[in-house]
Amino acid sequence: MAEATPGKRPAPDSSTLQPTKTHWSRGLLASMNDPNLIVKSDDRVVIIKDKYPKARYHFLVIPRINIPNLKSLKREQSELLRYMEDQSRLLATKYPQIEFRYGYHAIPSMSQLHLHMISQDFDSPCLKTKRHWNSFNTRYFLDSADVIRCLEERGMVVTMTPVAGEKLLDQPLKCHKCIYSPQNMPKLKQHLSKHTNN
Ligand code: AMP
Ligand code: ZN
Repeated sequence: MAEATPGKRPAPDSSTLQPTKTHWSRGLLASMNDPNLIVKSDDRVVIIKDKYPKARYHFLVIPRINIPNLKSLKREQSELLRYMEDQSRLLATKYPQIEFRYGYHAIPSMSQLHLHMISQDFDSPCLKTKRHWNSFNTRYFLDSADVIRCLEERGMVVTMTPVAGEKLLDQPLKCHKCIYSPQNMPKLKQHLSKHTNN
């Protein structure tokens, strides 16, 4: 199945209209049980490899209990979010040379809460579009620590409106490591290799 773009629903086609098929946005629930994708699991969370990784190392930490998205979180669940981040940081100790970020897309495309743990090389054939880039490299990507703080202080996670999200995804490209503003993705991808050790 084709991958969903952040914040954007693909146009309906015959496959999405077949009642016997699970809707694509619930694909993470199936992947949580896929032995080829599971990296680590316990009674509270499952860590899987992202099926369309946007960097050399891209994992998703998914709670076992049903939490559709950031908006459905309750204050008392901040401890679970801490646990999710702790588990991903523990996994990161297996990759001592790799720089990671831990966070959530403000407006996710996939159902069931998931924490992205993504290496900062962004070296992947699946990273194709400006929307992909901006979803991880603008304020669209909410750091796990900020999400937890917001939930604890305000009792809810405040994200952004779809219009604000679209604006961020449509921003001009900008390297996350320097001031370079490439005209297009091929130029950005070529440039990124300068920041990455092989
Ligand atoms: P988002 O909902 O925008 O936070 O991102 C969803 C993430 O899930 C993306 O990084 C996708 O590459 C990834 N993804 C999409 N479908 C699947 C799937 N069936 N199994 C695992 N990862 C997936
Ligand atoms: Zn740069």
